[in-house]
Amino acid sequence: GSTIGVLGGGQLGRMMALAGSNLGYRFVTLDPTPESPCGQVAGQIVAGYGDIEAARELAARADVITYEFENVDAGVAALLEEQSYVPQGSRLLYTTQHRLREKRAIEAAGAKVAPYAEIGSEEDLRAAAARLGIPAVLKTATGGYDGKGQWVIRSEGEIGPAYAELSRAGTELVLEQFITFEKELSVIAARSPRGEIRTFPVAENIHVDNILHASIVPARAEERILREAERLAARIAESMEAVGLLAVELFLTGDGELYVNELAPRPHNSGHYTMEACNTSQFEQHVRAICNLPLGDPSLRTPVVMVNVLGEHLDAVTEAVTTDCWLPELGDSNSALTPGASAASNATGFHVVPKVHLYGKNGSAPKRKMGHINLLCGDVRDGLDFIQQTNIWRNQNS
Ligand code: ATP
Ligand code: MG
Ligand code: MG
Repeated sequence: GSTIGVLGGGQLGRMMALAGSNLGYRFVTLDPTPESPCGQVAGQIVAGYGDIEAARELAARADVITYEFENVDAGVAALLEEQSYVPQGSRLLYTTQHRLREKRAIEAAGAKVAPYAEIGSEEDLRAAAARLGIPAVLKTATGGYDGKGQWVIRSEGEIGPAYAELSRAGTELVLEQFITFEKELSVIAARSPRGEIRTFPVAENIHVDNILHASIVPARAEERILREAERLAARIAESMEAVGLLAVELFLTGDGELYVNELAPRPHNSGHYTMEACNTSQFEQHVRAICNLPLGDPSLRTPVVMVNVLGEHLDAVTEAVTTDCWLPELGDSNSALTPGASAASNATGFHVVPKVHLYGKNGSAPKRKMGHINLLCGDVRDGLDFIQQTNIWRNQNS
């Protein structure tokens, strides 16, 4: 079988390797942390992501190369393309590494983004804030994640401090109009080199402290809006000639308008629900796409709520797993997967099948993503009830 090299050894690489192994592929990852989540289930080269010698070794050991984050060093990306096969190409990375380039690509595909301005100085910021209005969101153009590298400017007095703080990163900045959204949605599209495109069902995403807390599928929005979100994701993937997965984050406003927030050219946390809830998982689909295999069927098999397990939840989840303490609260697994069964069963308990995924990370810390749980349910309300009533997440509002 062929070997797939993965730049980055985190949980996304791990789940990619687990899914791809079932298709007969071998995996090798490059990551600085020994025994990384991916390295535990694949071969591993222990080195920094920007290490050219290590990248050369990865290229030598792998037939196909992919990555699990977008901030791949440009020099490494060029070397890998030269010395191995990188079906996703470096252009997709170049575009999605930088918020301004990404916004232009989204607009070129015919999708809307929040009105924005490029910011090079504090004067630029004042002028842009006057034009776009306050509140507005100032973001670093590169390197941000989990809300790091951004500042919601809520008054004129915050312009100076926000600029001083974010300009320290030394990258360009972008100011976005604040979108008063009703919901956050995401769609993951897959495209193969032969041009086949499939989209996964739309997820409704709930963030707590800027970190994804839960994804709800089917998303609770009008059918017309869900179809439009899927269409936009497919169009962006097509227009960018993306290969592999492209995750599209969207804002849905009260007027039914969809704005694209940002893209990710890789498996996405909001797509973890696909592992048990879809006929093909996002990880298998990614492997299929980069290997130019026919894409799998992304259809939903059951309503699902995915909830993240952060460091602060890990002990309670481990206890629940090892003592089966959830079981008395569960209905029988047959009715759990029967749509419509929920109304009748709510009085007696949850009709939810929790599927636990832990990433094997060494070292738990608050806010660190340690795992996730897919709550398969007859109706997403049962999954949401489960979250509300399970003490693991009692401090979070969903
Ligand atoms: P991720 O971890 O998803 O990569 P990130 O750090 O790249 O996050 P964004 O996705 O750009 O950041 O923003 C994080 C969150 O902040 C969004 O999910 C949304 O809740 C809020 N947000 C961002 N931009 C805007 C905006 N223009 N208007 C309103 N809310 C916004
Ligand atoms: Mg992001
Ligand atoms: Mg985001």
